[in-house]
Amino acid sequence: MRAMLLEKPKLPLKLCDIPIPIPQANQLLIQVHTCGICRTDLHVVDGELSYPKLPLVPGHQIVGAIIEIGKNVKNFKVGQRVGIPWLGGSCLHCQYCLSGRENLCDHALYTGYQIDGGFAEYCTADARFAFSLPNDYSDIQAAPLLCAGLIGYRALRMAGDAKNLGFYGFGASAHILTQVARYQNRKVFAFTRKGDTAAQNLALHLGAVWSGTSEEMPPVPLDAAIIFAPVGALVPIALKAVGKGGSVICAGIHMSDIPTFPYALLWEERILRSVSNLTRKDGEEFLAIAPKIPIHSEVTTYPLEKTNQALDDLRNGKFVGAAVIKVRELNDQ
Ligand SMILES: [Zn+2]
Ligand SMILES: [Zn+2]
Repeated sequence: MRAMLLEKPKLPLKLCDIPIPIPQANQLLIQVHTCGICRTDLHVVDGELSYPKLPLVPGHQIVGAIIEIGKNVKNFKVGQRVGIPWLGGSCLHCQYCLSGRENLCDHALYTGYQIDGGFAEYCTADARFAFSLPNDYSDIQAAPLLCAGLIGYRALRMAGDAKNLGFYGFGASAHILTQVARYQNRKVFAFTRKGDTAAQNLALHLGAVWSGTSEEMPPVPLDAAIIFAPVGALVPIALKAVGKGGSVICAGIHMSDIPTFPYALLWEERILRSVSNLTRKDGEEFLAIAPKIPIHSEVTTYPLEKTNQALDDLRNGKFVGAAVIKVRELNDQ
C-alpha cells in the first residue's frame, strides 16, 4: 500500500510502498478514505512530542471502511464505515480506565504516534476505540470531527456553563466549536494572530459576536477562554481576559513555555487547566450532537502524496478551517 512515512522527526514524510497491516484479534482492518490534518501531527513530525514509534504513519482523524475484522471483534461488521480517533487504546483496568478517564491512562496508545495512522491506504485499529459515524456526514466532512471536533468538545465541556466564551487560535477546532457554542446559546469571541482577517471573517460568518487579535481585550470579560494555539504566552493574556471565577483551558497537547505572571491574574478563583486527549464517551456524545446542529467544516483537501504540503500550509496558516487528506477517490461528494 502507499503510505506517507515519518522515518525521523524533523524530516518530511516520505511516500513509500509498505505491506498492508494484518488485524490482530481486537482490531479492524480499514481501507482509508480520508484522514484529517491536526496540529498534533505537526508536533509529531517536528519532533516536539517525544518517543513516536518509528518509522511511523502519522494521521489520527481517520474515516474508512472495514474490510476485515479480528476474531474478538463484536461491535463492528465488515463493510461498515468507521472513524478512528487519537486515542487508539488503553489498558482498560487501571484506576483511570475504570473511572471513564481512559484519556489519562499511563498505558494509553495514540493513533498516528505509537500506532500507525491514516496517511496511508490501509490501517488497523482497536475496535474498542473506534466510532461508528453518523450517516449524514460525507467522508470529507466526517474527518475533522474526529479530533478538531472531538477534543475541542471535551475542552468546551471543561468551560462548564460559560456564556461568554473566548477562543484563542481560530483553526479547525475553534471553527467547529463556534457552531456547537452557538447551538448552546453561548457568545463566542474569536482571537487570531495579527493580520489573520480570513480567520476573523470566518469566525464572524459562523456567528461569533466579536473577533480580533490575541493582543486585544474582548469588549466584555469572558466566563471562559479555550486556548487552541500552541503558544504559552497566551495563558496570561487569556487569564487577563476572563472575569472572576472564569476558566482558561489549554486544549493542545504541546505548548511553548508559559511566561511568569503575577498571582493577581489567577486570584479571584480563576482556573487554569489543560485538556488531555479524549474519552470514548466524549466521542459518542459529540458524534451524536454533530448532525443535530449540524456542524459543517470549511475543508481544504489534499491528495495523499501532498501530505507534506498540507502540514506546511497548517504551519503557515494558509487555509481557514480544516484540512483533510483524500486517500481514495470518493463517491459521496
Ligand atoms: Zn489531533
Ligand atoms: Zn488504563
